[in-house]
Amino acid sequence: MKDTCIFCKIIREEIPTKKIYENENFLSIPDANPRVEGHSLVISKKHFENILDMPTSLGQELIDCIKKTSLKLMDEKKAKGFNVINNNFKVAGQIVKHVHFHIIPRKKDDGEIKFINKS
Ligand code: 5GP
Ligand code: ZN
Repeated sequence: MKDTCIFCKIIREEIPTKKIYENENFLSIPDANPRVEGHSLVISKKHFENILDMPTSLGQELIDCIKKTSLKLMDEKKAKGFNVINNNFKVAGQIVKHVHFHIIPRKKDDGEIKFINKS
């Protein structure tokens, strides 16, 4: 799985991707199909399929990466807020089976944003 996982390939720098912020265990990158300007992803550097597989001890670094990324995006995109979304398992809309958190910068009157894929 790790060999073919798209996010593991990004972590291994086999697919060149802009880095927004990183710490020892997490990296944030722009989403390849942004639903709004600045839509980005916080991904773990180790391959865990979903949040249940991720050790609780990584929580502090996860929050660090979410906060630094969100602050940077709000500043750069002039957004006034943001959503953090984490889909777990197919039925909840998870497509990429490598734990990740969507950061969605929000602006006044930007409407309803649909980002959970149900197939
Ligand atoms: P999920 O539905 O699994 O929560 O969301 C997966 C997200 O990964 C989608 O928003 C999709 O656009 C994004 N994505 C899929 N492949 C790539 C890729 O190769 N690079 C980047 N940056 N994002 C990707
Ligand atoms: Zn992976």
